[in-house]
Amino acid sequence: MKPTDIKDPEYFHKVVDCQYACPAHTPVPEYIRLIAAERYTEAYMINWESNVFPGVLGRTCDRPCEPACRRGRVEEEPVAICRLKRVAADFKGDVKALMPQGPFPKNGKKIALIGGGPAALTVARDLAPLGYEIHLFDEQPAGGGMMRSQITSFRLPESVLDEEVGYILDLGIHTQFHHYVSSMKEMLGKGYDAIFVGTGAPRGRDLNDLPGRKEAGANIQIGIEFLASVAFEHTSKIGKKVIVLGGGNTAMDCCRTSLRLGGDEIKVVVRSPKTDMKASPWEIEDAEHEGIPIYENHVPKEFVIENGKLIGMKFEIVKAVYDEKGKRSLVPTGEPEVFIEANDVLIAVGQENAFPWVERDLGIEFDKWEVPVLDKKTFQSTVPNVFLGATQPWGQRTS
Ligand SMILES: Cc1cc2nc3c(=O)[nH]c(=O)nc-3n(C[C@H](O)[C@H](O)[C@H](O)COP(=O)(O)OP(=O)(O)OC[C@H]3O[C@@H](n4cnc5c(N)ncnc54)[C@H](O)[C@@H]3O)c2cc1C
Ligand code: SF4
Repeated sequence: MKPTDIKDPEYFHKVVDCQYACPAHTPVPEYIRLIAAERYTEAYMINWESNVFPGVLGRTCDRPCEPACRRGRVEEEPVAICRLKRVAADFKGDVKALMPQGPFPKNGKKIALIGGGPAALTVARDLAPLGYEIHLFDEQPAGGGMMRSQITSFRLPESVLDEEVGYILDLGIHTQFHHYVSSMKEMLGKGYDAIFVGTGAPRGRDLNDLPGRKEAGANIQIGIEFLASVAFEHTSKIGKKVIVLGGGNTAMDCCRTSLRLGGDEIKVVVRSPKTDMKASPWEIEDAEHEGIPIYENHVPKEFVIENGKLIGMKFEIVKAVYDEKGKRSLVPTGEPEVFIEANDVLIAVGQENAFPWVERDLGIEFDKWEVPVLDKKTFQSTVPNVFLGATQPWGQRTS
């Protein structure tokens, strides 16, 4: 057996299961001890150092730390690690005085951040105190990315987001909001020492090949776009009968939001068995508690139109069959197709990466999924001063 290498920080991370399971390796026991001692401000700062948005995450984190919590092995529920983060955020005192104070001595390097979501804001927070001059570009009117445009305000109040984004922008970040970057070539020509691309995964997948998709277009929306238009108050109502297609957290947000916009017969319909759904168990539980049924093993076949208007959808019934490697196939059962009535359909069946604004002759290599090839350790593209972060490199990830 190899001797333990205590010089490797991974060894210590792995000792505390919840801390290791947290993507940001937040020192969970340390901040919970401080909360127990009612030292909320210090507990908040410990979180801020590792996960940047404690108030946001205390409300919205996917909390992979909790299934790893050892209490879960001896009691029914793990420690409520995520909600405790919110406790620290809500009861803290003045934290600004404990954060790095600018103006910082300049180191002569200029960095461009494309996108103003959590990824780019984290880069800004970490580099500004080191003396980098940071220029952030985002097409939205304010920072926060999908935290602002997609996460519903009943889960994340705007004031909490504004506060935590503000801590970062106040470090002297030069912001250009309402600015869509349409050419990487142009950005490269501006002489930045490095460019960080944090543009997220903005496109939701559509079901363009299904019959009726085009004709029923007025009553069909892509889930994440629907959530964005609700967040930006462009949409305030929806039909009484709503089908939400998809089994991830976006689908759960869509169905619960539809309920709040006046829908009263909302159905989530998934292709897979319920046990294979990607949504977090507590998100599914919350939707079901609100009376929203989930129809499993239903594959969408057609949007049904009557007199030019969407009246529902047809589904094929399947069952999941797994081969010896665990690979799943959805096999039709031969039962008759099922018709489900709907006035509106929300499609929440995944997201696609998109870099239409990155010219393909700059030396940035793309893989077969049209995603830039990256060094997995440094997130560096094949053009050495261009880096990519967060959601886009290897599919959707949370915090
Ligand atoms: C409905 C929904 C609910 C979610 N709920 C949760 C949750 O509860 N918990 C959780 O942890 N995560 C959640 N997520 C995921 C989380 O929001 C993302 O993982 C996170 O926002 C990704 O951060 P990012 O910085 O990579 O990109 P984004 O947040 O997508 O930010 C990218 C930014 O780049 C801007 N941009 C894109 N292209 C350009 C361009 N060419 N020029 C200028 N600006 C550009 C966009 O306007 C956007 O502001 C949710 C996502 C969705 C869709
Ligand atoms: S709630 Fe989220 S950020 Fe906090 S420790 Fe758990 S995984 Fe990490």
